[in-house]
Amino acid sequence: MKTVRTIAELPESEGTVGLVPTMGAFHAGHLALFTAARQENDVVVASLFVNPAQFGADEDLDRYPHDEERDADLAEQAGVDILFAPRADEMYPDGYATWVDVGELGKRLEGEFRPDHFRGVATVCLKLFNMVEPDRAYFGQKDAQQAAVVKQLVRDLNLGLEIRVVPTVRDKDGLALSSRNAYLSPEEREAALALPRALATKDVERARELLRGLEVDYVEEADFNGRRVLAAAVRVGKTRLIDNVILEGETT
Ligand code: AMP
Repeated sequence: MKTVRTIAELPESEGTVGLVPTMGAFHAGHLALFTAARQENDVVVASLFVNPAQFGADEDLDRYPHDEERDADLAEQAGVDILFAPRADEMYPDGYATWVDVGELGKRLEGEFRPDHFRGVATVCLKLFNMVEPDRAYFGQKDAQQAAVVKQLVRDLNLGLEIRVVPTVRDKDGLALSSRNAYLSPEEREAALALPRALATKDVERARELLRGLEVDYVEEADFNGRRVLAAAVRVGKTRLIDNVILEGETT
């Protein structure tokens, strides 16, 4: 595996290219995306970029977990060919001014609590798609609204790549894997288990009841590109967690 830091160093790839955009701190959820990309493409590119544009001013950008050496080892073991780990000024040089407006989909649910989040996500994804020119890009069902926003971006801007959505990977206790789980104390982690338990009911009213002890941003049914999900965001201490379960529709 080769680690690349500049856009100029990204190679022209022969054959099909699969891209997995990430913010690092890899866990088995990321590895499932790498594995899917490895199975379906000649070349696998993973990007590792903690995108400042998708964090709000009072969010966890400064404390987001970071261990590039460990991530590089895990990515290599999972069959990634190129790890693209640019610095922020490579992605957003002085004078950077253009942003993708993702419309109504970016304003609901997550968008209500993280106002410019999906604008940052869509912009960085469009930039990565233009730089890497993948045939397919891989996203997790864990971030269902993000996957829907990216699908909309591809459709609306005629990007001509395929978006593949990989099922959510969970720990044995049911908690969806997330880089942010590292913030949780043992007590907080125990409290956080209410989230997967509530969603597992697949019933919005019962889920609301089971989440009563936590600080809940939302628990709602949503339709993302014809896929109905029950989605929720909660705060456990200083940590914000999101999760969802599919109610109906295809799983990929
Ligand atoms: P992140 O590094 O958190 O931005 O995540 C990078 C990609 O991994 C996104 O497409 C996420 O949806 C996906 N992902 C994160 N957690 C999981 C999980 N537990 N299962 C499957 N995919 C995940």
